[in-house]
Amino acid sequence: MKIDCPRCQQDLVKKVHIGIVGKTVFHCYECEATWFNEDAIEYATFLDLSTYLGRKKIDLSSSTYATFVDDPTWHTIEN
Ligand SMILES: [Zn+2]
Repeated sequence: MKIDCPRCQQDLVKKVHIGIVGKTVFHCYECEATWFNEDAIEYATFLDLSTYLGRKKIDLSSSTYATFVDDPTWHTIEN
């Protein structure tokens, strides 16, 4: 999967499984933009990962983002 992030254009969008919510999303590690549908990866449709997890009562700050990235129980890259 090679889709340039349409938001920041600094990184590729990666397919990521978020274990804590049991969801597979499409995520840019550079700007934390997140999509839920590969066919809808465009600038207008991104959601910040922290906003998405906040709706699920999971607090994701810039300090916990490093934990999110490093901890395989939080997330795994699928491709
Ligand atoms: Zn980005």
